[in-house]
Amino acid sequence: MPSGSVHNLINTGAFLLIAGSTAYAKQQGYVDPSIPEILAFTGTFFVGTFMMSPDLDLAEQNVSSKKAWGIFGFIWVPYGKMFSHRGLSHTWIVGPLTRLVYLTILLAALYYLAILILPDLKSRIRFENVPRTLEFWQPYILGYYVSQWLHLIADGISPDMRALSRTFKKKKR
Ligand SMILES: [Zn+2]
Repeated sequence: MPSGSVHNLINTGAFLLIAGSTAYAKQQGYVDPSIPEILAFTGTFFVGTFMMSPDLDLAEQNVSSKKAWGIFGFIWVPYGKMFSHRGLSHTWIVGPLTRLVYLTILLAALYYLAILILPDLKSRIRFENVPRTLEFWQPYILGYYVSQWLHLIADGISPDMRALSRTFKKKKR
């Protein structure tokens, strides 16, 4: 299986291909992404590639995605301990979701800790301004998931069917 830097290289190359074909499709009038949509996709694609790769399931070691968090890399150690390498973390739909949920729980804990210490903070952070339409979040979700799927393809893992059949086989035994 490819190392972290090889994964990063594959994803960056794939991004250039996606960018090139999107530019072509736009020129041909097939798609018309807005600048905010392009930035959203690009942002989550590279965060997904460099900082939230499936190999964080090895975060108890020194993987590339953990290093990208700098001094905050340690926050992924429990995730690495929780998930076996190339297990649930390396599935197509649930795998990327596990990392999002994990990060959300950590951020929520941090938020509640922060407002416990600084009660004023609560009135300053306005969650009601966060967009709630799927249409808004689509390019963000797509960028993240495409980055994860490219990793899985490079690892030679096909869509979740394999994980499903593995679970099924285990149950039968
Ligand atoms: Zn991997």
